[in-house]
Amino acid sequence: MSSDTASSDTVGSDAVGSDAVGGETTISPAPLAPAATRDALDATLSAVFGFDRFRDGQREIVEAMVAGRDVMAIMPTGGGKSLCYQLPALTGEGLTVVISPLIALMEDQVSALRATGVEAGMLTSATTEDERARVVDALRAGRLRLLYIAPERLASEAFCGWLARLNVDRLAVDEAHCIAQWGHDFRPDYLRLGPLAARLGVPVAAFTATADSDTRREIVDRLFDRRAPEIFLRGFDRPNLFLAFEAKEGGDRQIVDWVVARGLVSGIVYAATRARCERLAAALGRAGIKAAAYHAGLEAAEREARQRAFSRADDMVICATVAFGMGVDKPDVRFVAQADLPKSIEAYYQEIGRAGRDGAPAETRTFYGPDDIRLARARIDESGAPEDRRQADHARLSALLSLADSPGCRRVGLLAYFGETVEPCGACDNCQDPPRVIDGTEPAQMALSAMLRTGERFGAGHIIAVLRGQANERTERLGHDRLKTWGVGGAWAEAAWKSWLNQMQAQGLCAIDIDRHRAWTVTEDGWSVLRGERMVTLRPAEAARPRGRSKSAVSAGGARPLAAVAPEDAALFEALRTERRRLADEAGVPAYVVFPDRTLMALAAEKPRDLQAMAGVHGIGQAKLQRFGEDFLSVIRANT
Ligand code: ADP
Ligand code: ZN
Repeated sequence: MSSDTASSDTVGSDAVGSDAVGGETTISPAPLAPAATRDALDATLSAVFGFDRFRDGQREIVEAMVAGRDVMAIMPTGGGKSLCYQLPALTGEGLTVVISPLIALMEDQVSALRATGVEAGMLTSATTEDERARVVDALRAGRLRLLYIAPERLASEAFCGWLARLNVDRLAVDEAHCIAQWGHDFRPDYLRLGPLAARLGVPVAAFTATADSDTRREIVDRLFDRRAPEIFLRGFDRPNLFLAFEAKEGGDRQIVDWVVARGLVSGIVYAATRARCERLAAALGRAGIKAAAYHAGLEAAEREARQRAFSRADDMVICATVAFGMGVDKPDVRFVAQADLPKSIEAYYQEIGRAGRDGAPAETRTFYGPDDIRLARARIDESGAPEDRRQADHARLSALLSLADSPGCRRVGLLAYFGETVEPCGACDNCQDPPRVIDGTEPAQMALSAMLRTGERFGAGHIIAVLRGQANERTERLGHDRLKTWGVGGAWAEAAWKSWLNQMQAQGLCAIDIDRHRAWTVTEDGWSVLRGERMVTLRPAEAARPRGRSKSAVSAGGARPLAAVAPEDAALFEALRTERRRLADEAGVPAYVVFPDRTLMALAAEKPRDLQAMAGVHGIGQAKLQRFGEDFLSVIRANT
């Protein structure tokens, strides 16, 4: 393996290894914080990060890590994983080595840490000479607290040997599910982490947002060499996310209108195809929104440039396929829209989970229609996967459809899927504007019976014609006007029937046979409805197509991303954003690295008059207070 030889190794052995280590010396960074007592942790949290309290689960994880225990933490996206390994890194004598799969993500974290006055560095295959020199200097001077490394560095024996000579306190493994061989994000180099930890003889802390038990087991087996780590399973709720679903109508326009109504903020629009991403980005551009498409059809360099621009801005929308994924660590994404239905609740939650990582209110909305359902079903059937896998995929899709079609609280349904029980949340479309439901058993029986009596060979149009008794050439030719179900549903409008068929499909009472010209067929569950063994709840047609609701959502409803700013503070808030943009551009860092949105919201509300008052504001630690305090104070003075 050529990568194991020192000469082909660009980072570890040549530049860093020989230069920095040059033999057996152990480099040990000096301690930054004293003994890690509870108070000391609180003090560091506030002095360095500017946060007044730990989020759910963080303290326990941090304390276990500081005590030198092996840890596996499962937290939802945006739950605040990185703080869990960043804070312990500030308490000990040695170095915390962080493995992370994506360079962009590491860069963001390193620049965010440096902005808070913490010395951190990264070594990847893309690291520049300058950056490498900075890391080496910081190591020499004992200032380096966190060293981020890309997994592929571990392929080099020389690099691992170099690591082994440093005074490493612990290994923190981000996105630990990348070690799972059957997972979608498998990274072979992650398999080297178990042996590396053993060689360094240090505790390991693994972090992931992937909850399923197989993946968890694999992480434990491979990373901890079957030692039992302490496992922290953080609740999956993300209370700051507003959840909503909306029936599709009006194509791209519907999405564009919704996005425009969110104002000039950072947002992601997920769409199913490259073409749709391009179209949506173009339409948003015409509507005055800074927008770009992102998908696998773009050159890697172009993709990276767009991701970087998005990451830095606080007013840009990216229209992306699922290709826009794990690298998105931007905390100030104020909305995620899914222009097309994802394939499972896991995918749904992972995508919308990219909104509001900073804890400030963020809005999510999923648009779906019958075409999505058909397409998704067809994709599963044509995937070539084994039968049991396909069945499982269909079941996953159905679970998401039930959530989409549920008249109940979205959060209750979503968390029930992950095995958690919560009260209705008040922060979803159904809580804020409960849809009316009716006992739909009778119309459901009518429709199922019409499908059966026409031989399960026809699409929605024909079935509805039979139900409503609307004669046409075909009904006459086939003699369907003599069926028992002819005209039994004439009391209901065509729109009602269309909606109900979709709802019934979503509930698994009937299915569309792709191979037979999209003929509607009756499922096992449908049969039990016909036999009177099962009730059906339906939303009446007008509630199922949330016209009224979508209008209110566009103009007023929901937790609009910046609704946390009082109207009288809006001008000040905008001025603060402008100042933040200026400072961020000057420093060449993303806007949120200067201050997160929540800090600007707090500044706009509290209007501190001096540095002392400012020190108490969310997200303002000592380093940032010194660096940016005066700039923002003068904006506050000028605007109040
Ligand atoms: P993830 O778990 O998805 O990796 P991050 O570590 O990126 O999430 O954290 C998401 C955001 O939450 C970051 O902007 C981070 O600064 C912020 N954050 C983390 N912990 C806290 C806290 N205790 N109080 C306030 N904000 C926090
Ligand atoms: Zn709710």
